[in-house]
Amino acid sequence: MKNPSGQDNDHNKKPFSLREWLFGMSVDRKVFWLGLLLAIMFIAGWAVYCNIPWLSGMGECRFKQVTGLYCPGCGGTRAVRALLSGHMIGSFIYHPFVPYCVIMWLVYEGSHLLEILHVPGVKGMKFREAYAYVGIGILLCNWIIKNIMLFVINGLH
Ligand SMILES: [Zn+2]
Repeated sequence: MKNPSGQDNDHNKKPFSLREWLFGMSVDRKVFWLGLLLAIMFIAGWAVYCNIPWLSGMGECRFKQVTGLYCPGCGGTRAVRALLSGHMIGSFIYHPFVPYCVIMWLVYEGSHLLEILHVPGVKGMKFREAYAYVGIGILLCNWIIKNIMLFVINGLH
């Protein structure tokens, strides 16, 4: 179709299609939107958690009460609290998985956001499964080391 000035005008007429937008997107960009969604859900969940006294005031974790061992998530809440009050090292000691996720999230989402905003020279980070494996590795190492430390400390008494 031609407009009066003789230029091809078809691309202006094309309506926005959610389906095309969603399926035409690269995997890296999909992960960006997913990351944004997860962050919003996490912030909402955290806000709810902090405002329900019986939930946030539960004290020791159920897994630890029953087994006497730390669960893989033990220290996570304190790590998020420490991070929110700007204590990066404290957060890392409580649960290194938390600052790892936050740093990866900031770098990944930040790079994609800058690319979407057409900041010259910035390309959105590629998503690699290795990032997830590193995260799981940190989670497992943290869990094992904390329980060994618990064992050692208990053995000293
Ligand atoms: Zn726990």
